[in-house]
Amino acid sequence: MQIQENISLRTYNTFGIDAKARYFAAFSSVEDLTECSMFNAQYSILILGGGSNILFTKDFEGLVLKNEIKGIELLHEDANYVYVKAGAGENWHQFVLHCINRGWAGVENLSLIPGYVGAAPVQNIGAYGVELDDVFLDLEAFHLKEKKMVTLTKSDCDFGYRDSVFKKKYKNEFAITSVTFQLKKKPVFHTSYGAITQELEKMGVKELSIKAISQAVISIRSSKLPDPVQNANAGSFFKNPEISKTRYEELQAEFPGIIAYPLAEDKVKLAAGWLIEQCGWKGFRRGDAGCHAKQALVLVNYGKATGSEIYQLSEEILISVKEKFGLLMSREVNVF
Ligand SMILES: Cc1cc2nc3c(=O)[nH]c(=O)nc-3n(C[C@H](O)[C@H](O)[C@H](O)COP(=O)(O)OP(=O)(O)OC[C@H]3O[C@@H](n4cnc5c(N)ncnc54)[C@H](O)[C@@H]3O)c2cc1C
Repeated sequence: MQIQENISLRTYNTFGIDAKARYFAAFSSVEDLTECSMFNAQYSILILGGGSNILFTKDFEGLVLKNEIKGIELLHEDANYVYVKAGAGENWHQFVLHCINRGWAGVENLSLIPGYVGAAPVQNIGAYGVELDDVFLDLEAFHLKEKKMVTLTKSDCDFGYRDSVFKKKYKNEFAITSVTFQLKKKPVFHTSYGAITQELEKMGVKELSIKAISQAVISIRSSKLPDPVQNANAGSFFKNPEISKTRYEELQAEFPGIIAYPLAEDKVKLAAGWLIEQCGWKGFRRGDAGCHAKQALVLVNYGKATGSEIYQLSEEILISVKEKFGLLMSREVNVF
C-alpha cells in the first residue's frame, strides 16, 4: 500500500474543489487501515468515501484515506428479515440495486443517493420518506487513535435528521469499515412522499414492487437534482430547519407561502430551499460559485470556484435567512 504526497483532491470530491492532500492513500482492508493509521501520529486523518458531501476550504495538511473496502455478504436470515453486511467502500446505489435484485426490501427509496456505504450512517442518509436508520442494524469501525475495532449499534449511533454521533461526539474519530442492514423479506412500500405515486402512475405500474419504487425514485431524482458531473455540487448544502409548531404559526402569519412538513412532538420542518429562494439567492452566481437556478438548496461550482468562495456564499445565505426569518439554519455538507 502506497502513501502518496501532495495529491490534488479535485477528482475525489463532487464539488470539484482543487484542494491538495499532504498525504493520500487508499485502503481496502482493516489491515491496510491499521497500517496507514500508524503512519505518523502528528497528522490528522480524514476518511473519504465518494466525496459527495464534503467541501474542502483549504488544503488538507494531514492524511486522506480513501475507503475501498468492498464486499456484500448475506450473514443470515429468519422468517421476516435478511441480515446483510456491506463493505464501507461499496458504492451506495450499487448496493441498493444488489438488494433490489434479490428482493431484499427497505432501501429502494434511497436509490441513486451518491456516495459510499460507509458514509451513509455519518449523516443518516435519507430520501423520499426513508432514512438509513430504518434499515440499520450495526456497523464496524476502526478507532483511529486507539487503533482498535468496535461494533456500534443503532443506539450508539444516535441517529437524527441528517445527523449521527459521527458528526458530533465521534467526529473524525472512526473509520467505518462495514455496515450491517436488516432488510425485509416482505416489503412495506413507502409511496406517499414527494411525487412517487404520480411517477408510478406515469410509468403505468399496476403492481407495486420495490423495483418499481426504485425506478420511480431514480426517474424523479434524475429530472430534479443537478448532476454533479455537469454542475459540480454536493446535493443539499443546508438542512431543513426544524422548529416548534408555535414558532411556525408565527412565521406563517407573516409569510403565508411558507412551506412546511409536520413532524412528531409538535414540531415542524421548514423547506430550506423556499427560505433561501425568498432571500433572492436562487440562480445567483458570483464568479464560479453559485446557487442553482432550479434548486436553491444546492450550491454549485461552475468551474474554478474555490472552497472558500463556496463557503463564503453559504455564510451570506445563512445570514440573510437569519435576518429575514430569524432562523439559524445549519449546513448539511461537511466542511474541512
Ligand atoms: C446530487 C447529490 C444528491 C444527494 N442527495 C442526497 C439525499 O437525497 N439524501 C442524503 O442524505 N444525502 C444526499 N446527498 C449527500 C451524499 O450523497 C451523502 O451524504 C452520502 O452519504 C455521502 O457519501 P460519500 O461517500 O460521498 O461521503 P464523503 O463526502 O466522502 O464523506 C462525507 C463525510 O463522511 C465521512 N466519512 C465518509 N466515509 C466514512 C467512513 N467510512 N468512516 C467514517 N467517516 C466517513 C467523511 O469524513 C465526511 O465527513 C447528495 C449528494 C449529491 C451530490
